[in-house]
Amino acid sequence: MAGPRELEVAIIGSGMGGLACALALAKKGFKKIDVYETASSLGFVGAGLQMAPNMARILDKWQCWEQIEAEATVVRESSIRQGSNNEELAHVHMPNIKNLYGHNHVAGHRFSLANGMYQACLKEPTIKFHFAHMIESVSAWSPKVTFTLKPRNGDAFTRKADVLLGADGIKSTTRTHLLSSLDLPSQPTIQDTDQAAYRIMLKREQVKDDPEILALLDGDCVTRWIGPQRHIIAYSVDNHDIYNLSTTQPDTHFAAAPNASYTTLADKGEMIRVFQDFCPLVHRMLDYVPEGEVCEWRLRVHAPLPTWTRGSCALVGDACHPTLPHLSQGAAMAIEDGAVIGEVLAKSDGTPESIAKCLKVFELLRRERTQMMVDLAKASGRALHLGEGKAKEERDRLFREAKEKGIGQQTVPDKWASPEVQKMIYSYDCVQESNDYFDKLSKEAAKVVQI
Ligand SMILES: Cc1cc2nc3c(=O)[nH]c(=O)nc-3n(C[C@H](O)[C@H](O)[C@H](O)COP(=O)(O)OP(=O)(O)OC[C@H]3O[C@@H](n4cnc5c(N)ncnc54)[C@H](O)[C@@H]3O)c2cc1C
Repeated sequence: MAGPRELEVAIIGSGMGGLACALALAKKGFKKIDVYETASSLGFVGAGLQMAPNMARILDKWQCWEQIEAEATVVRESSIRQGSNNEELAHVHMPNIKNLYGHNHVAGHRFSLANGMYQACLKEPTIKFHFAHMIESVSAWSPKVTFTLKPRNGDAFTRKADVLLGADGIKSTTRTHLLSSLDLPSQPTIQDTDQAAYRIMLKREQVKDDPEILALLDGDCVTRWIGPQRHIIAYSVDNHDIYNLSTTQPDTHFAAAPNASYTTLADKGEMIRVFQDFCPLVHRMLDYVPEGEVCEWRLRVHAPLPTWTRGSCALVGDACHPTLPHLSQGAAMAIEDGAVIGEVLAKSDGTPESIAKCLKVFELLRRERTQMMVDLAKASGRALHLGEGKAKEERDRLFREAKEKGIGQQTVPDKWASPEVQKMIYSYDCVQESNDYFDKLSKEAAKVVQI
């Protein structure tokens, strides 16, 4: 029997999860890794994202962190402000994140992260990319996974692989087929968040005459302006050349069209109206956005899936645990998934039974952890968006207390900025955990695995 490194692995999607799976497996010595991506290139919607030490630790091991970090901005503090009047509710200093967790917390461009990982993949001769290839269906799950691919300009064809990893995002086709093959509802139960996000990038040139915004651009601070049902988070990316804003507000567009795309061009006037009771600084920032450059994203999560695996197929990243962005951990979780996939598959003996069991161990390792992060992001959103009332008074008391005492380990209602939550997330080493718990979880996996 050939060892695991001879296995043919097919990965669907070249987002953060797909790239991470490919790199992890290549670094483990897997020799045949094919990545199928429906887009014709590594095209990413322009937006910033935060990259925390738990993500950096993994990318550093794969030798692609240095370049990504060089293009990013180190985050050293966080300020939570009342949207209506810019009053500061809490201020979190994060001067020693690198000492505590081994890596900085940085903010960068989404493309920079994806491209850094992609360039690292290109150095691995065992990874092959097939752009403009969309998975259409999966018809067998073991001993080989059989699936149909449709090239953009060609006829659909069928392929077999020893392992299929569905890293095809929140609208995953792989997930649809996996669930329906088990006679489960093919679509997960949508938990409507009723939230959408505008994502905006202000270039230095646009704001050069506004000292207040320039100071934010030149700073190392992640700032959140909060208000009832809405907030804005903003930080510098691209070596302080771009000020990235991401909003959250009630969803009025996507909810009306449940099957529509998850991103759309939005109306600037409407965006400004949504934040009309925010302070003049916020108004000025929104006003700098050129008409036609407002992009709105749907924010959606779903109920936990009954399973992430069947036979030699597993789901990865947003395909199995989509999250609200309020903890800034969605991409990090997808990359952690990839790292864990590398660990568990390297321990397989290469038989279909062993592959299925190892993929189930992956699910057991990741399910609880990712659900906790999804729940925390949801809870954080609820706290940030409170309207007038007792709950808001209590939230603001906690913010005030943290501000007055100086934040040590006490709870901050914005979970992202809460040192105790940061500790729990940033110190987590998914590779270490995979190795510590593999044997124990293998026994559990053997009992529940479905071929
Ligand atoms: C507003 C917002 C802010 C965010 N901020 C942060 C942040 O600061 N930090 C952070 O860590 N995360 C953040 N995230 C979350 C993060 O972007 C996602 O969780 C992450 O990109 C998920 O990666 P993925 O690989 O699972 O899915 P995706 O990145 O969606 O990749 C899926 C890939 O599969 C491809 N695909 C889809 N269908 C098919 C098919 N049928 N065949 C072939 N290919 C297919 C797609 O084209 C895509 O390339 C944010 C998300 C949002 C919406």
